[in-house]
Amino acid sequence: MCGILGLMTRREVGADLVEGLLALQHRGQDSAGVLTSDGTFHLKKGNGTVGSVFNEKNLSRLTGRAGIGHVLYPACGPGSAEDAQPFYVNHPFGIAMAHNGNVTNYYDLRRELMSKDFRQLTSFSDVESILNVFAEELDRTNLGRFSPASVFRAVRGVFDRAQGAYSVVGLIHGRGLFAFRDPYGVRPLAFAQGRGEAAFASESVAFDRLGFHKFTDVKAGEAVFVDFAGKVYRRQVKPGTPRPCIFEFVYIARPDSVIDGIDVYEARLRLGASLAAEVARQGVKPDIIVPVPDTARPAASALSKTLGIELREGLIKNRYIARTFIMHGQQRRILSVRQKLNPVRSQVKDKAVMLVDDSIVRGTTSREIVQMVRDGGASKVFLAITAPPLRYPCVYGIDMMTRGEFAAKDRTAEEVRRFVGADALVYQTYEGVSTAVRGDSDVPGFCKACFDGKYPTGVARRYLVRMERERRRWTM
Ligand code: SF4
Repeated sequence: MCGILGLMTRREVGADLVEGLLALQHRGQDSAGVLTSDGTFHLKKGNGTVGSVFNEKNLSRLTGRAGIGHVLYPACGPGSAEDAQPFYVNHPFGIAMAHNGNVTNYYDLRRELMSKDFRQLTSFSDVESILNVFAEELDRTNLGRFSPASVFRAVRGVFDRAQGAYSVVGLIHGRGLFAFRDPYGVRPLAFAQGRGEAAFASESVAFDRLGFHKFTDVKAGEAVFVDFAGKVYRRQVKPGTPRPCIFEFVYIARPDSVIDGIDVYEARLRLGASLAAEVARQGVKPDIIVPVPDTARPAASALSKTLGIELREGLIKNRYIARTFIMHGQQRRILSVRQKLNPVRSQVKDKAVMLVDDSIVRGTTSREIVQMVRDGGASKVFLAITAPPLRYPCVYGIDMMTRGEFAAKDRTAEEVRRFVGADALVYQTYEGVSTAVRGDSDVPGFCKACFDGKYPTGVARRYLVRMERERRRWTM
């Protein structure tokens, strides 16, 4: 997963882009980058968090009133310094780009682009392939006269040639800012405007930090172009079949964001209420409810309220340790769990504790937490999960690429319970997760492929096999 940002204002944007990226930091901590334009492109990017990449000195070089920014968690490629975004090409016009997602025909596109003498790709980042396809299409279709329509034609070319999920922000030298979202709208993208200023962001929380009060979602299959005079052009480039990622609402997004008209915090409350019904149906009777900080906290509070069982903060988080799911390497993750969480003995001792967490990926983190609470003196430890079992790899940019990694891959719920060492394990149902997340929104459907294996875009088996092999190589 990654976070993207685009900004055009009436003042210098460098510091604001960094500010906005800080609000999106949870979406990626491997690298950060900002590119601004004042007639010349200015780029600073590097490995690490936003706070470690940017300083007063390099910020002073990021001049201009328009720019794009990115935080990266690598889903395609080894995540080396070369993969940090944004990227740019000089021809035509000078185009810069950053994205969130994953192109599932990346290897074919890369081979096709590299077979042309004038296209050289310098990284394993799939945004470079989107950028070069976009540049080719813009060069071919602008017919020597730039117009917003030529941007839309180039986006159409990207939609026709790049498969997978991608939300994109970009900048065309001397022309304007643009953004588009793939025809399934899997990864989020929102657009805000006001006072002749405009912004694009993966999550609306970035707009709060930048002072934009009104925003809309970029629709599945839609492109938006804002020229440097502030005029906005929007076009439905290809009919959309919206299938936003349901895991954004379960785990990825910040609870203070609104995505596709769905308030993430409210969705998590509904997930908790829905899970409570399943806990009651299975007859599991805890003394207290304990959220696994932080993502599951709203769901735990709704579960507690629905069941009439007291909520206690039985696990305390060391907030200076990074998110475990986002860290690479099994040993690092296990060590980090123990560094990150500690039980409150006075709250869990001699109690039947129901831990509420958002998901079980590999199962090793859950096992550590269950054992930690048992070591803290709990008489029983139950585990309630706000999502259904994760069983299939995500090919759309979330780092759980290989099927072999999932605790629930070939296990029943009972076998997963034994694996994590809990006294009971209650998963959210498949129906429950969709109904709870949708609420009263008009989202017609979600991508739930990591739960049910149904990929909205379809995905070639040879791609899954290759990803599995590549990922094993990167994580060795
Ligand atoms: S497979 Fe899962 S994590 Fe990936 S986009 Fe679909 S719902 Fe989201």
